[in-house]
Amino acid sequence: MPSTRDYYEILSVERTADDEEIKRAYRRLAMKYHPDRNPNDPEAEARFKEAAEAYEVLSDPATRQRYDQFGHEGLRSAGAASHDFSRMDVQDIFSMFQDIFAGVGGGTSRRTARGYDLETVVSLDLQDVLHGCERDVEFTRVDVCDTCAGSGSRPGTKPSRCETCAGQGKVQQSGLGGMFRMVTACPTCRGRGTIIREPCEACRGKGRVPRNRALSVRIPAGIADGQAVRIQGEGEPPPPEASPSGQGVRGDLHVVVRVKEHAHFRREGDHLIIELPLSFARAALGAEVDVPTLEDPHTLTIPRGTQHGHVFKVSGQGLPNLRTGRRGDLGVVVRIDIPRKVSKEQEDLLRRYAELDEQSVLPESHGLFGKIRDALSPKDARKPRKNEPRKEGDR
Ligand SMILES: [Zn+2]
Ligand SMILES: [Zn+2]
Repeated sequence: MPSTRDYYEILSVERTADDEEIKRAYRRLAMKYHPDRNPNDPEAEARFKEAAEAYEVLSDPATRQRYDQFGHEGLRSAGAASHDFSRMDVQDIFSMFQDIFAGVGGGTSRRTARGYDLETVVSLDLQDVLHGCERDVEFTRVDVCDTCAGSGSRPGTKPSRCETCAGQGKVQQSGLGGMFRMVTACPTCRGRGTIIREPCEACRGKGRVPRNRALSVRIPAGIADGQAVRIQGEGEPPPPEASPSGQGVRGDLHVVVRVKEHAHFRREGDHLIIELPLSFARAALGAEVDVPTLEDPHTLTIPRGTQHGHVFKVSGQGLPNLRTGRRGDLGVVVRIDIPRKVSKEQEDLLRRYAELDEQSVLPESHGLFGKIRDALSPKDARKPRKNEPRKEGDR
């Protein structure tokens, strides 16, 4: 899940911060929360990942502008896909921003080259949750450049050996103020061991190009807000540093589900809850009412003397469980509706009822001034407490 905190706040920078300040702020946080320095500290790891997410957005002028204008929502609108840092390997995040960390860490020999995961968001309503659905998602992801097959070199030319690391891709550097020496990815060639002299024009030497991808994604019934469907192998190819040709394992795509609020139904796990406004007369005397469900209306028998707040359970009219498919229930909560206006005849009957019930009621409505007089009559007048500021117009 992407962070919902403000990215500037995460990096502790002003909204006017320039690229250099943002980079410094991120570098500082990444060092502070790096899991090597905070072993077995999930909180630190989460901070580390959150900072990476904030940095990725704010370091790119286009995404930063979109974020400034539309906030988090703007980044996850149609066609947007972002890296899913929360599920990413720390080592992967490190190599992703290698240019920032040159000489600090990263560059450890990896197992099979694996691409980064991506994340995109789809929006569902309760009907979609009830039946499950198919969603077309479109997003942009980097792919291996066809022109140079990922090498980054103009076709017909070859990358030459990096002189900094003599083609090894690794250099020995003193880390953390000279306290110890470590082998890191070569900062000149970013660990590749080669330098591109004549860059491919299609990808400007990167070996990767952004490409649109459209997919149809099956969303299972019963999914909850915030859960994600993982589509294996639909993320990015391994980064060029790890595998120029893109050979290895692609990352995954996480399709995060947002379930829209319903005008009438509230969701509680697999159960649904709806409020049923009921007149005093029907609650007192009993009635048959049609209650809306996500499918056909259900006829509910309201017994005599039903109380405000009573919950009727309609079995099996909730949502299906994601695992078992078994449907939850619909809870119908009675809300006694007090009429705001009554007809003359109704009023007479209510007065008669109150008499029988030996209850005192307010005298018949006698206009606005009468009400104000009642409200301000000495008997009910509220004495202002000490130190209570007087309202304007109070006399
Ligand atoms: Zn290319
Ligand atoms: Zn090198």
